[in-house]
Amino acid sequence: MRTKSKWSPGPGIKVQSVISSEQGDWVVSACGPESGICPDCRHQSRSRHGWSYRRLQDLPIQGNAVTVKLQLRRWRCTYRQCRRQTFTDRVPAIASPYARRTTRVAEMVGLLGHSTGGRPGERLMRRLGMSISDDTILRHLKRNAARIDDDPPARIVGIDDWSWRKSWRYGTIIADLERRKVLDILEDRSVVSVARWLKQHPSIEVVSRDRCGLYAQAAREGAPQASQVADRFHLMQNLRLAVEEQMSLSGRAAGRALLPDGNIEIDHDDRATRNQLPERSRRNQLRRAHQQSRKDVFKTVHALSTEGLS
Ligand SMILES: [Zn+2]
Repeated sequence: MRTKSKWSPGPGIKVQSVISSEQGDWVVSACGPESGICPDCRHQSRSRHGWSYRRLQDLPIQGNAVTVKLQLRRWRCTYRQCRRQTFTDRVPAIASPYARRTTRVAEMVGLLGHSTGGRPGERLMRRLGMSISDDTILRHLKRNAARIDDDPPARIVGIDDWSWRKSWRYGTIIADLERRKVLDILEDRSVVSVARWLKQHPSIEVVSRDRCGLYAQAAREGAPQASQVADRFHLMQNLRLAVEEQMSLSGRAAGRALLPDGNIEIDHDDRATRNQLPERSRRNQLRRAHQQSRKDVFKTVHALSTEGLS
């Protein structure tokens, strides 16, 4: 199918055709401007030297892939004092130089890559009609991280695990918490690499990290001048675990409400003694209390069910 298009790719660029294949994919063919501006001397040229072609992945149409085929001219710079002999049209409104996808697709890759990671991002983008490998998504993130303007230098950073491949290979992600930008992604999760990175960034004043001793050690070695703080997520996780532990020891409040007093074997008032128990026996006691509590709830539910309650 061939249609007349109102697709506007950018100044000076003309759409020649929009074709839909039998598989439903779309190909937009467009041609570059009639004259070029030399990137060095900024003089206009109409002296054509040849052609160059670019193939860009664009946003999908109703889930179907869209490819933009750009025919661009290569120009001679005719300004005598300019050292550059030839140059190719640039299309900043559509894509960066050498990019294989349009700027708007690149933005989507960045957004999804940040929020989901490599593999889930790949699956999601394929479902949306944009086929991009997980490696490309991660490369894109890393390239963007390298481009972050380091002026003024970062002061407050967050450090956490980064999954290259879930349950298989982990790296480290470092983010500027003030600017909400990824600063770097390290290949591995080790004290050495994180400490080395921190040493290269002496401006760091605060390191927000998880509860893992690894990043604490790295921050001590690499940024002794910085304060270490636990990030909000891990504080909430701490709180949740503490509450769970307390609930288990107390016979789980929800279950106990159903049970007559005395069904729990743990002595609830003996907290002082319990806190003095060795860690292993304390864990065993917790486990037994938890099992007993579940059994009691199970029995009570069955008893109530036998009496005809829902
Ligand atoms: Zn020039």
